[in-house]
Amino acid sequence: MKLVQHNGKTGIYTTQVYKKGELLFELRGPIKAHPTPTSVQISQHKHIEDAYAQFINHNCSPSASVIGRKVIAKHDLKPNEQITFDKNEMADHLQNPFVCSCCGKLIQGKKHLVFK
Ligand SMILES: [Zn+2]
Repeated sequence: MKLVQHNGKTGIYTTQVYKKGELLFELRGPIKAHPTPTSVQISQHKHIEDAYAQFINHNCSPSASVIGRKVIAKHDLKPNEQITFDKNEMADHLQNPFVCSCCGKLIQGKKHLVFK
């Protein structure tokens, strides 16, 4: 895994091949009861402050998902692919809601999703 700056935006990219379902890395860091703009929610009242996860960008068709503390490949990955999350799935309420650059949807967390 490596940090890459592209157009002024930092992202995390793979440095090797990963198979679908394979562990990319494990989230490590202080756990807080409340979310911060950079934390990842790992259970109802646990938000982990991982040094690298804060650089993972949003994508509506993400390359990775989080299961507990594990960051898992959602499909086969080649080297130099960006690790992305669907941030709508990442937390009940995002501390820093934003408009998705691919679809223009407001991304603000699971609790805000409308199911029809
Ligand atoms: Zn989108």
